[in-house]
Amino acid sequence: MSVPLLDLKPQNLALEPALQAAFQRVLRSGHYILGPELDQFEAAMASRLQVRHALGVSSGTDALLLSLMALDIGPGDEVIVPSFTFFATAGSVARLGATPVFADVCPVCFNLDVRDVERRLTPRTRAIMPVHLFGQSADMDALMNLARKHGLRVIEDAAQALGAGYRGRPVGGIGDFGTFSFFPSKNLGALGDAGLLVTQDDALAEKARLLRVHGAKPKYVHHLLGANFRMDPLQAAFLSVKLPCLDGYHEARRRHAAVYTERWSALPGVRVADPTACGCVESMMSGAGAGAGARAGAAPLILPVAYSHNEVIWNQYTLRVPGEGRREALRTWLQERGVASEIYYPVPLHRQPCFLPATGDPPSLPVSEHLAGEVLSVPVFPELTSFQIEEVIEGVASFIHGYG
Ligand SMILES: *Cc1c(COP(=O)(O)O)cnc(C)c1O
Repeated sequence: MSVPLLDLKPQNLALEPALQAAFQRVLRSGHYILGPELDQFEAAMASRLQVRHALGVSSGTDALLLSLMALDIGPGDEVIVPSFTFFATAGSVARLGATPVFADVCPVCFNLDVRDVERRLTPRTRAIMPVHLFGQSADMDALMNLARKHGLRVIEDAAQALGAGYRGRPVGGIGDFGTFSFFPSKNLGALGDAGLLVTQDDALAEKARLLRVHGAKPKYVHHLLGANFRMDPLQAAFLSVKLPCLDGYHEARRRHAAVYTERWSALPGVRVADPTACGCVESMMSGAGAGAGARAGAAPLILPVAYSHNEVIWNQYTLRVPGEGRREALRTWLQERGVASEIYYPVPLHRQPCFLPATGDPPSLPVSEHLAGEVLSVPVFPELTSFQIEEVIEGVASFIHGYG
């Protein structure tokens, strides 16, 4: 593949001496669980994300799990999650015996459709879990208003959105909890699994901190049922090396995304997704419902939108390729030209075998189902060369010209 979807090596090898030094520092410290490396990294993240508390944890998935545990969410409780997201968002809810209730998303920005969330509230609803998918914030004002009105908690799944902003604020610190992932494919990738949990609430932070270490306080006395959710100080040390580079990584992704959008929107019929069709931004609601995406039917390709009120960090650059079989055709076309692409996500979560209701049909979530058949993410990682970007651009352009 001359253009891989993601190549982690150049980014990490560019930092090899510093990463080696970090490893040596941890090795020689003899401190391999929690400790100063983690404290320092947590302080740096709290400051960057403008939150009072940041806890290094074992993964983004465990950050979600820990946040739900700290909120005592369990059997009998419902948590509203988008259907169009990575599995962990809903999986963490189900693992605690609570019920993930799937809501539909906006066809324009891919994030939770607030009006659909409202339709799915029941007396058992305890929390809403917006995901800032592909690096763009969900409509947090509307979600927070809805949550306040109904006394619900909000957990932001910001796994794909570290550094993204919403109306001038970093995402993650807006809800009761924010969760991040340092899985190597995220914008700030560790050399293994790691995650972060953030909150502005002192009591919730204290509880999460206890639950991270089996709930023990004092040592060997357990009032709470926790588990081991700690981030390795070794990963914290590596991440501390990479953190100062993060803005540069974002910049490169933004540059690549801007070039894609500029070049592809010049192709016949191709356009950026129409924000006025967005059902999820209150100020933009103009009677356009969730089905507004269907209007896009005529375009051969729809480019992702970055709202001006959001600071988007482009964890993915995700195209929509309308028309039966056309997404697969584009994917094959690109593959034959050495350009990798990936479908995030091919099966909406409400249709996953493990979430199908025991009896009856799964709920109908038309936008999520539609998007699952249309989306295609193309390489946008920071280290792409201009030659590689040209390959991606040409690959897509020749497909559009060939298919008209
Ligand atoms: C990556 C991701 C997670 C899980 O993070 P891990 O660190 O891999 O456990 C959760 N939610 C979303 C939306 C993600 O993209």
